[in-house]
Amino acid sequence: MEEVKVIKECPFCGSKDFTEAKARFVSPLDDGFHGSVLYHTICLKCGSVVRSYVKDLKPFMKE
Ligand SMILES: [Zn+2]
Repeated sequence: MEEVKVIKECPFCGSKDFTEAKARFVSPLDDGFHGSVLYHTICLKCGSVVRSYVKDLKPFMKE
């Protein structure tokens, strides 16, 4: 399993305060019906989205 790098500080302003947010839906280009919730890590100082990710990768896996 790949090591997950934890973001320790904002690459734009150096702040260490982050919050998690989620957007509704992200889907594969060729499949608009299946998808995952898209999570964002947002810097609380400058508002930059420093990371976007999905927790459920199944809709993006090809058989
Ligand atoms: Zn920042």
